[in-house]
Amino acid sequence: MGTGIYNNLYDVVIAGGGVSGAVAGIAAARNKANTLVIEQSGYLGGTLTSCGVGPMMTFHAGEKQVIKGIMEEIVEQMMLRGYCPGHIKDTTQYINYLTPFHSEGLKVVLDDMLKEAGCEVLFHTFIGDVKTEDETIVALTVCNKDGLHDIKGKVFVDATGDGDVATFAGAHMTKGRESDGAMQPMTMNMKYCNVDADELRKHIEEKKEEFPRMIKNIDLMYQTERLSFAGFTKEFKEARDLGELDIQREEVLCFETNTPGEFIVNTTRIIGHDGTDAVSLSLAEQVGRKQCEQLDKFLRKRIPGFHNAALEFTGPSIGVRGSRQLKGNYTLTARDVMDRKEFETVIAHSAYPIDIHNPKGEGTESSFVSTPGTYYSIPYEVLVTDKIKNLLVTGRCVSATFEAQAAIRTTPTAGALGHASGIAAALASKADDNTNRVNVKELQKELMKQGAYLDL
Ligand SMILES: Cc1cc2nc3c(=O)[nH]c(=O)nc-3n(C[C@H](O)[C@H](O)[C@H](O)COP(=O)(O)OP(=O)(O)OC[C@H]3O[C@@H](n4cnc5c(N)ncnc54)[C@H](O)[C@@H]3O)c2cc1C
Repeated sequence: MGTGIYNNLYDVVIAGGGVSGAVAGIAAARNKANTLVIEQSGYLGGTLTSCGVGPMMTFHAGEKQVIKGIMEEIVEQMMLRGYCPGHIKDTTQYINYLTPFHSEGLKVVLDDMLKEAGCEVLFHTFIGDVKTEDETIVALTVCNKDGLHDIKGKVFVDATGDGDVATFAGAHMTKGRESDGAMQPMTMNMKYCNVDADELRKHIEEKKEEFPRMIKNIDLMYQTERLSFAGFTKEFKEARDLGELDIQREEVLCFETNTPGEFIVNTTRIIGHDGTDAVSLSLAEQVGRKQCEQLDKFLRKRIPGFHNAALEFTGPSIGVRGSRQLKGNYTLTARDVMDRKEFETVIAHSAYPIDIHNPKGEGTESSFVSTPGTYYSIPYEVLVTDKIKNLLVTGRCVSATFEAQAAIRTTPTAGALGHASGIAAALASKADDNTNRVNVKELQKELMKQGAYLDL
């Protein structure tokens, strides 16, 4: 069965089938490149399907939608099939719009879209090394049920989130905060069904002064199809003081999914672990699960609406917010984000704020773009390095400082970067395979032809 894959010379090989890699796969295949996506799990979607992450935040800058293209097609497909209510108001009022979805629905929608585009997928396959010649990647060494094999390609896209391929190829990488190397904490998300959202709404309205994030427009809870909430700081502190919770966080953060009464709980905080160190990652999974066990008792005992709720699952895998970043031909900075620096080579926009979960303990620090409703730009050069000729890096591990990465790491932006990477990879594979020499004007034209939004 596998021999075709191992004998092929692909135009484009994409490492990782998270949101960025999956979108890159669709884009490259639609642009007539013979494309393969390699994914360690048995499904696509990355953190959105393997870490219980959601909702997608955010496609919008105020009322304006600034992320479209293939990411919007995915949302439309999910809406058509009843897996997503579309872009709806964020009742926590952290951002303006968010996009809940059904993670099982996302898996099949992505399967269908990649298949329709003509993109091959190899699941249950881990990339453990690369072969390079003359600053060029010639193959990825993978391990799966067939054993160890090389997969050959002309152009490679690293969508592993951790920059595995770029690292194995010898690209210059950074890791963590510039001052001390500390990384954002990990979180093991939990998913509950049978939560009584009406009881929660009633409680939040009655005690609105205890929900400072939501008090500005408490009625939004009744005008929006799904409930998100942040709060219960008093209850959280009490439980911590009593030793019931050993979590260095101060509030409960929850998002209702596409399924009414199903909530994602994003509240654990696993500090001081490294997503690129196998031992540290393994320990983080165990610490995360222990925190989930404590939280499960806490939620069902102390939080209205959760008394009859059932924990569907944790993770399944722990969520890693940040690890390695490419040191690319340009490094996006917090100043670029905050000052909304314009780039001639823009390939995506985003309005998600700089959102840093404290690497050392409690607190989450947010910096919003200076004028509400505005957005920032991301240039092509964050995807490439002149040290490796035929590589693109996409998703959360592109070239960005610790702070800038905390803004561009969320899924709509990762997907928008994937769209650009996929087209760029296809363009490079039709020219001289050199991703540093992609004609960015042509890439921008093609992105806009495919429905992406660019301010040009
Ligand atoms: C706890 C948590 C909560 C978050 N909450 C939100 C939220 O509410 N909304 C939002 O929009 N964003 C959220 N984010 C951010 C967002 O989920 C990620 O930053 C984003 O999904 C990154 O997408 P990606 O495609 O770059 O990487 P990933 O989604 O991590 O995908 C990488 C893929 O590559 C595969 N892979 C990795 N290494 C290898 C290898 N060596 N071989 C084979 N396959 C490999 C992985 O299995 C995975 O499928 C959250 C993140 C975390 C951790």
